[in-house]
Amino acid sequence: MKSYRKELWFKVQGRRALINITPQVNECLRESGVKEGLCLVNAMHITASVFINDDEGGLLGDFETWLEKLAPEKPHSQYAHNGFEDNADAHMKRQIMGREVVCAITEGKLDFGQWEQIFYGEFDGWRDKRVLVKIIGE
Ligand code: ZN
Repeated sequence: MKSYRKELWFKVQGRRALINITPQVNECLRESGVKEGLCLVNAMHITASVFINDDEGGLLGDFETWLEKLAPEKPHSQYAHNGFEDNADAHMKRQIMGREVVCAITEGKLDFGQWEQIFYGEFDGWRDKRVLVKIIGE
Protein backbone atom coordinates (compact mmCIF):
# COMPACT_ATOMS: atom_id res chain seq x y z
CA MET A 1 0.00 0.00 0.00
CA LYS A 2 1.20 3.50 -0.82
CA SER A 3 1.00 6.31 1.71
CA TYR A 4 1.34 10.00 0.87
CA ARG A 5 1.31 13.06 3.11
CA LYS A 6 1.47 16.73 2.26
CA GLU A 7 0.68 20.02 3.98
CA LEU A 8 -0.91 22.83 1.98
CA TRP A 9 -0.25 26.32 3.37
CA PHE A 10 -2.62 29.25 3.27
CA LYS A 11 -2.40 32.85 4.43
CA VAL A 12 -5.69 34.60 3.81
CA GLN A 13 -5.54 38.40 3.49
CA GLY A 14 -8.70 39.00 5.45
CA ARG A 15 -10.64 37.46 8.28
CA ARG A 16 -12.74 35.05 6.24
CA ALA A 17 -12.54 33.31 2.88
CA LEU A 18 -13.78 30.19 1.14
CA ILE A 19 -11.15 28.85 -1.27
CA ASN A 20 -11.56 26.06 -3.81
CA ILE A 21 -8.56 23.78 -3.18
CA THR A 22 -9.61 20.98 -5.56
CA PRO A 23 -6.72 21.77 -7.98
CA GLN A 24 -4.14 21.43 -5.15
CA VAL A 25 -5.69 18.16 -3.96
CA ASN A 26 -5.69 16.83 -7.53
CA GLU A 27 -1.99 17.72 -7.73
CA CYS A 28 -1.37 15.77 -4.50
CA LEU A 29 -3.25 12.81 -5.94
CA ARG A 30 -1.10 12.94 -9.08
CA GLU A 31 2.09 13.08 -6.97
CA SER A 32 0.95 10.17 -4.81
CA GLY A 33 0.54 7.83 -7.75
CA VAL A 34 -2.42 6.21 -5.99
CA LYS A 35 -5.06 4.87 -8.38
CA GLU A 36 -7.44 3.17 -5.93
CA GLY A 37 -7.79 4.35 -2.35
CA LEU A 38 -8.88 7.16 -0.07
CA CYS A 39 -7.92 10.80 0.30
CA LEU A 40 -8.32 12.63 3.60
CA VAL A 41 -8.15 16.43 3.60
CA ASN A 42 -8.36 18.19 6.96
CA ALA A 43 -7.76 21.62 8.42
CA MET A 44 -4.96 21.60 11.01
CA HIS A 45 -6.40 24.60 12.85
CA ILE A 46 -9.47 25.00 15.03
CA THR A 47 -10.70 28.14 13.29
CA ALA A 48 -10.65 26.75 9.73
CA SER A 49 -12.67 24.13 7.84
CA VAL A 50 -12.44 21.77 4.94
CA PHE A 51 -15.72 20.87 3.26
CA ILE A 52 -17.24 19.84 -0.06
CA ASN A 53 -19.82 21.85 -1.92
CA ASP A 54 -20.60 23.71 -5.14
CA ASP A 55 -18.22 26.41 -6.41
CA GLU A 56 -20.99 28.89 -7.14
CA GLY A 57 -20.55 32.52 -6.14
CA GLY A 58 -24.11 33.04 -4.92
CA LEU A 59 -23.93 29.99 -2.71
CA LEU A 60 -20.55 30.97 -1.25
CA GLY A 61 -22.02 34.36 -0.35
CA ASP A 62 -25.02 32.59 1.17
CA PHE A 63 -22.69 30.55 3.39
CA GLU A 64 -21.06 33.76 4.65
CA THR A 65 -24.44 35.32 5.44
CA TRP A 66 -25.75 32.15 7.08
CA LEU A 67 -22.62 31.62 9.21
CA GLU A 68 -22.69 35.25 10.30
CA LYS A 69 -26.32 34.81 11.45
CA LEU A 70 -25.48 31.64 13.38
CA ALA A 71 -22.27 32.93 14.96
CA PRO A 72 -21.91 36.70 14.48
CA GLU A 73 -18.34 37.98 14.79
CA LYS A 74 -19.37 41.10 16.68
CA PRO A 75 -19.77 42.22 19.33
CA HIS A 76 -16.70 40.31 20.44
CA SER A 77 -17.84 40.69 24.05
CA GLN A 78 -20.80 38.34 23.52
CA TYR A 79 -18.50 35.29 23.79
CA ALA A 80 -16.87 33.93 26.94
CA HIS A 81 -13.92 32.72 24.82
CA ASN A 82 -13.03 36.27 23.79
CA GLY A 83 -10.66 38.01 26.14
CA PHE A 84 -7.10 37.55 25.01
CA GLU A 85 -8.60 36.49 21.66
CA ASP A 86 -11.46 37.75 19.50
CA ASN A 87 -12.10 34.61 17.48
CA ALA A 88 -14.88 32.73 19.27
CA ASP A 89 -17.10 33.15 16.20
CA ALA A 90 -14.38 31.55 14.05
CA HIS A 91 -14.29 28.45 16.28
CA MET A 92 -18.07 28.11 15.89
CA LYS A 93 -18.09 28.70 12.14
CA ARG A 94 -15.42 26.03 11.77
CA GLN A 95 -17.49 23.62 13.85
CA ILE A 96 -20.51 24.14 11.61
CA MET A 97 -18.58 23.74 8.34
CA GLY A 98 -16.54 20.76 9.54
CA ARG A 99 -12.93 19.75 10.00
CA GLU A 100 -12.31 17.34 7.13
CA VAL A 101 -13.47 15.45 4.07
CA VAL A 102 -12.70 11.93 2.90
CA CYS A 103 -12.84 11.29 -0.84
CA ALA A 104 -12.78 8.01 -2.73
CA ILE A 105 -10.07 7.60 -5.36
CA THR A 106 -11.08 5.52 -8.37
CA GLU A 107 -8.95 5.00 -11.48
CA GLY A 108 -6.56 7.72 -10.32
CA LYS A 109 -9.20 10.41 -9.88
CA LEU A 110 -11.27 11.89 -7.07
CA ASP A 111 -14.53 9.98 -7.41
CA PHE A 112 -16.82 13.01 -7.18
CA GLY A 113 -20.35 13.85 -8.13
CA GLN A 114 -20.72 16.42 -10.88
CA TRP A 115 -20.62 19.57 -8.76
CA GLU A 116 -18.51 18.47 -5.81
CA GLN A 117 -15.51 20.66 -5.07
CA ILE A 118 -13.24 20.78 -2.01
CA PHE A 119 -13.05 24.06 -0.11
CA TYR A 120 -10.80 25.52 2.55
CA GLY A 121 -12.86 27.71 4.85
CA GLU A 122 -10.89 30.37 6.70
CA PHE A 123 -12.66 32.11 9.59
CA ASP A 124 -9.75 33.83 11.38
CA GLY A 125 -7.25 34.79 8.73
CA TRP A 126 -4.15 36.97 8.42
CA ARG A 127 -1.78 34.18 9.44
CA ASP A 128 -0.22 31.02 8.07
CA LYS A 129 -2.38 27.95 8.33
CA ARG A 130 -2.09 24.39 7.13
CA VAL A 131 -4.29 21.77 5.52
CA LEU A 132 -3.23 18.13 5.68
CA VAL A 133 -3.66 15.86 2.67
CA LYS A 134 -3.26 12.15 3.40
CA ILE A 135 -3.69 9.62 0.61
CA ILE A 136 -3.55 5.87 1.05
CA GLY A 137 -4.12 3.11 -1.45
CA GLU A 138 -2.52 1.37 -4.38
ZN1 ZN B 1 -9.71 31.10 20.01
